[in-house]
Amino acid sequence: MKILITGGAGFIGSNLADVLMGQGQEVTVIDNLSVGKASNIAHHLSSDRFHFVNDSILNVTMLERLVRRADLIYHLAAVVGPKYVVEDPLGTIVTNVRGTENVLELAFKYWVRCVVASSSEVYGKSTVVPLSEDDDRLLGSTTVNRWSYSDAKAIDEYFAFAYARKGLPVSAVRYFNAYGPRLDPRGYGSVIARFISQALRGEAMTIYDDGVQTRCFTYVADTIEGTMKAATVQEAVGQVFNIGSDRETSINELAQLIRRLTGSTSEVVHVPYETAYGPAFEETRRRVPDVKRAREVLGFEPATSLEEGLQRTLDWFRGTAAGE
Ligand code: UDP
Repeated sequence: MKILITGGAGFIGSNLADVLMGQGQEVTVIDNLSVGKASNIAHHLSSDRFHFVNDSILNVTMLERLVRRADLIYHLAAVVGPKYVVEDPLGTIVTNVRGTENVLELAFKYWVRCVVASSSEVYGKSTVVPLSEDDDRLLGSTTVNRWSYSDAKAIDEYFAFAYARKGLPVSAVRYFNAYGPRLDPRGYGSVIARFISQALRGEAMTIYDDGVQTRCFTYVADTIEGTMKAATVQEAVGQVFNIGSDRETSINELAQLIRRLTGSTSEVVHVPYETAYGPAFEETRRRVPDVKRAREVLGFEPATSLEEGLQRTLDWFRGTAAGE
């Protein structure tokens, strides 16, 4: 199959590219390397089954050339991570809304099946546990930049549902805190990357607030398995799926686990949210997916334990990050 991955040089996209290349597929990646990195895909560049286009999904002419010859699209290109979102509100909205509009409009024009990557961030600060796909969203004011990402991803889903109603085979996946090799080794964009890099450098591990807040960290191989099922299972069309682990971990526990796995002597400190994100930042305190729909429709089963996934991530950090 000819598969197009938008954002294929990013953390999830490049791990997906590895799996698809391993299956013998023909893979094209479009990525403007704003968040993604050339080093994530460098090992495929010598293959004649792999094509890399260094461009933005806002370039419709280029995008059209790529979509026209694709059999399947994984749309992962986006501005991601609360820090980027807070620092670049305009880029977040334009890339995450107009970019998806471009991809789906072209997918519809050429009738190409598509999976749209969405996020657990769409639930906002909802206090419902666990969160199912049809649950209400709860967002703060538009003056709090963080929620622009949530709204942008929600619009992406609306686009997907609207095109599905017009007959396009499209589905959406909501990721819950994916982690694994190729997280940013400088620790940008994810608490796991930050804690590992802080622990390996012997720097203080910075827990924001009381650390009682929780997440369900999902190993990237599981994230990808769910995504690929959403792209291939017939009943997935027109639906959105939570893709995540259902093991809930507090940030305090996570810090201790990483400290133990790394053998680090780093001190663990608690810092106020404002220190990291500035004033007017709002946090999601608990975020747990209900994965019933993904289990039943996709046969999705997150298989990697947090300890095992963290160990693999750590091995990668030790091997790669040391040189950066
Ligand atoms: N967090 C933390 N210390 C850090 C970075 C993040 O305590 O250095 C917390 C953050 O406040 C949140 C959780 O870790 O509660 C997950 O943050 P992340 O940015 O990885 O993803 P989010 O789920 O918030 O999008």
